[in-house]
Parts: sequence; structure tokens; C-alpha cells
Amino acid sequence: MIQDSFGRIHDYLRISLTDFCNLKCMYCMPEEGFCGTHSPHLMSRDEIVSILIAFVEMGVRKVRLTGGEPLVRKDFGAIVEGIRHLPVSLHLTTNGVLLNKYIDLLWESGIHALNISLDTLRPERYLAITKCDLFHPVMENIYQALNRGFKVKLNVVVIKGVNEDELWDFVKFSDEHGIGVRFIEFMPFDGNKWNNSGVLSSADMLEIIRSKYSYVKLNDGVHDTDRKYQLSGSKGHFSFISTMSDAFCSGCNRIRLTADGKIKNCLFSLNEIDILSAFRKGENIESLVRESIYKKAEKLGGQFEHYADLHNPAEISNREMIRIGG
Ligand code: SAM
Ligand code: SF4
Repeated sequence: MIQDSFGRIHDYLRISLTDFCNLKCMYCMPEEGFCGTHSPHLMSRDEIVSILIAFVEMGVRKVRLTGGEPLVRKDFGAIVEGIRHLPVSLHLTTNGVLLNKYIDLLWESGIHALNISLDTLRPERYLAITKCDLFHPVMENIYQALNRGFKVKLNVVVIKGVNEDELWDFVKFSDEHGIGVRFIEFMPFDGNKWNNSGVLSSADMLEIIRSKYSYVKLNDGVHDTDRKYQLSGSKGHFSFISTMSDAFCSGCNRIRLTADGKIKNCLFSLNEIDILSAFRKGENIESLVRESIYKKAEKLGGQFEHYADLHNPAEISNREMIRIGG
């Protein structure tokens, strides 16, 4: 098992398959755009499979494929074929644009839990946030996934002045469709024009929801990053990922592997360890992985405590979110 110096066991790996994306979300993609890393510098399909096997041998039991947008990778199907029989539970985070293309493969490969990003239920606002006019195809894909039986959670990044007026609509949507909706506090990354005035804290979001709906608190698992609530009598639920106002670092079991093969021991880690170069030289990556996790900071990469302390992303040393893998 992989353990850090605070005794936290790390058995959940989030692999970014690519740092390229077919959307340009305002909070993720730098305004000047980013056309993705040249493929020789990215992990190949075979490297992903071999590196993941090494992680499984070290005790990883849950894997999330993410990006960038994981479904834009031409060899996405071959990657899934290569890892589907490993003894891990496989999950996917996607913007949903290409979901229809892979829905059968995902289902047949046992990837039945999908986190889909959708920050608005209004087509014109979707265009403003993502710079792409793809609201209706994405909604169709979400309905297709629901009809097929996938367990769908929607990820909603809430930004003051952008979409906080849709909290009630999303709560209603979670109730109507019996799904989970996760409201994520706006986080600072290189190039995303974050400012603390854009953060709507989870406490404030809950207050807004309370003004219209009554709800109950649900139990949260020890490793859960979200705090869950439910409208009375509902089959769905809503939750908050309060990284900025009340981080959940004490139960963290996550390791991030960037598409170019670097370990990030935290979303906000200062340092990265290049395991792809070591792997390509035939070196053993296990000691590098263990060393990276052992050095993990107690909270938020050791870079800040609370969003009120920060004013812009330049105060944190990090990559663009699109190049980390969410
Ligand atoms: N393309 C996929 C998607 O959008 O679901 C996977 C990658 S995306 C980087 C993963 C998650 O990170 C998404 O749910 C996205 O909303 C979230 N995210 C990106 N930038 C963020 C930010 N600045 N603050 C909070 N969440 C962010
Ligand atoms: Fe692409 Fe996901 Fe980032 Fe949006 S949040 S730009 S869909 S990687």
C-alpha cells in the first residue's frame, strides 16, 4: 500500500489521458487556448497500461480516467480494453460531448459510474462558459446514459456572477432524475483568471438552497470529497466540494498522474515527479511513487489555507487545470 507521512493510504489513482479538450471552459482552459502536448511527450496506450499495473501492484483499487477530455483520445477504446480486466473499479470524468460514441464500450467494460461536467441548464449560458454550442448534444448524451442505467453525477463549477442563480434548478434536476449533482467551489489554476470574489462558498450555496427547499444531511464516506444532502423524499441528492472554504484533505486517498507522466500528490502540489521518463529508461517507478506520496503536504499542497488568503492564481505555483487532470 502507498502511504504518506500522515498515515493516509492512497489507493485511488486519477489518470489524465490527455491535456487536449474539445471545450474551452472559462475556469479551466487558459484564455489564449492550449492545443495539447505533442504526443511523444504523453503516455502511450501501452505505457498507461503498464504504469497502471505497477500502481495496482502497489495497492491502487480505484481508477478514474480524466483529462483534458479523456474521450478525445483516438485510442481511448484501446486504453479501456487494456485496463478493463485489472482488479480496480474504473470511473470516468467527461464533458459528455463524445459520450454517445463510447457508451456501449463503457457499459461493457464495467465503467458504469460517470461524472459529467455541466455548469448550466441554459443553452446560451453553456455557449458562454464553454465557448462551444454543444448544450443539446451533451444533454442528449446525459439522457442516453441515464436510460442505459449509468450512475451519473453532474459536476457543476459554481462561480459568482456566472451561474449561482441556477442552484435551485440543478437541485430540482437531481430530484427529477434521481441523480447526484455536485456543486464545486471555483478553484485557482494557472491562466484561469480566478479571483476570490468569484468563489461562492459551500455554506453560502447551502443558504441559497435553504431559502427555497428543505433537505436532510446524508452520511459521507471517509474518503468522500463532497458533503451530501437530499431533498426530503427525493431519490437524487446534491453535494458540495468545498476545496476553497473547507478542504477535505484529512481523508484524501488520491494520487494524480498527468498525461505527460508526472505524479502530482495533490491538486495543488508544488512539486511533480516524472515517472514517465524513469519508466522509459527502464527504471523502477515504485520508489518514485512512494517518495512522492510520502512527501505530500497535510493540506492543499501546503500552498494556502483558505481562499480569502488568495487574490489571484499567480500566488500559487501550479499548472493550468487542463494540464493537471481534474
Ligand atoms: N473534461 C472532463 C470534464 O470536464 O469533466 C474532465 C477534466 S475536468 C479538468 C475535471 C473537472 O474539473 C470538471 O468537473 C471541471 O468542472 C473541474 N474543474 C476544472 N477547472 C476547475 C476550477 N477552476 N475550479 C473547480 N473545478 C474545476
Ligand atoms: Fe475541457 Fe473539462 Fe476543462 Fe472544460 S473542464 S475545458 S471540458 S477539460
